[in-house]
Amino acid sequence: MFPPDILLPGPTPVPTAIEQAMLTPMSDHRGQLFQPIHDGVYDKLGILFQLPQDGAAAVIPSSGTGALEAAVQNFFAPNDRVLAVTTGAFGQRFAEAARAMDLEVEEMAVPWGSAFTVEEVLDRIHRASYRGVLVTHNETSTGVTNPVVELARHWPRAGDRPLLVVDSISGVPSIPLTFDEAPVDVLIAASQKGFMCPPGLGILLVSGYALKKRPTTRRGRFYFDLAPYFDRQLPYTPAVSLWYGLHQALDLLLQEGASRRWARHRLLASMTRRFGEVGGFSPLVAEPIASATVTALGVPTGLTPQAVRAAVAARGLQIAGGMGPWAKTAIRIGHVGAVTPQALFGGLAVLAHLSPRPTEALAAAWDVWRQAAQDSGPSR
Ligand SMILES: *Cc1c(COP(=O)(O)O)cnc(C)c1O
Repeated sequence: MFPPDILLPGPTPVPTAIEQAMLTPMSDHRGQLFQPIHDGVYDKLGILFQLPQDGAAAVIPSSGTGALEAAVQNFFAPNDRVLAVTTGAFGQRFAEAARAMDLEVEEMAVPWGSAFTVEEVLDRIHRASYRGVLVTHNETSTGVTNPVVELARHWPRAGDRPLLVVDSISGVPSIPLTFDEAPVDVLIAASQKGFMCPPGLGILLVSGYALKKRPTTRRGRFYFDLAPYFDRQLPYTPAVSLWYGLHQALDLLLQEGASRRWARHRLLASMTRRFGEVGGFSPLVAEPIASATVTALGVPTGLTPQAVRAAVAARGLQIAGGMGPWAKTAIRIGHVGAVTPQALFGGLAVLAHLSPRPTEALAAAWDVWRQAAQDSGPSR
């Protein structure tokens, strides 16, 4: 009867204003009614990410993985040597996509629950020559944020340098990464996480250098050839309704503003972490590298992640399970997109039913919230 409450690292809750925008009657995607939506999406993405003049964007019909594949297809050719820095399931998926496209992939595997270090990645690219380096900004399987901003600041700028290609699908725009502060080459996002839309749109933002370095032959790509998108054309019928939603979402994101949005997500992560520490759901990654959008937690003694998820689902709350090696030990709480502190607190109250110290855990989360409110006023 009621839709479930969701605290997932995707899909995320869709605000009513976005749902309503997606009900806009269908019209010709090459007609006058759609033109301002199309141009508006690209202009607003440019503002949101501080895209330089010589950069470009592409909004394509796919989930995030399609956008990762499109990045590999469009910026590399078979046998190109790339370094894939993997910190969990999604880093490994990116590496697999590159292997599937016949790139020569060298993997720098970092243990689950850790972040890569900037020094090690820079050391690798100085010791060998790569056409590109694939990194995950926010590793959704572990809830680790990698130091991509710092890596971008130290990235070589001269000569025939490697492309820095970033999967930030569960990162931006909820955690900082903009081209003025962190000039990456290919930034990949998707509609159903921080963009608060349903799944179905892949979003790529690219530097002028990346555009120049693209292989010239089109072999190995057709539908996902991004060239027309970078010229702001629509080669095929777009997902019209999702475009209306994304256009509205970009207005909401720009209204909230970057610093408030980033602070809100940090607050949500701190509330979740404190709840877990006090309530017997121990956080699985160290605080300095903990993600602002997703938190992996252990479960209280005597419970399994499956049992916890089933029990909260019976109370109308959906949370995510652990992945890969963490499948039997972890749950993941997504606090990304349109989630407010009060919505998160409601979700934690459901989870508290399974905690050996429910009231203490909720009080600890609420204390974090109160402290943040005192520091900065209401977050919305
Ligand atoms: C969600 C996600 C993806 C893409 O998943 P899709 O299901 O294809 O949208 C890729 N990388 C990361 C880091 C993600 O969080």
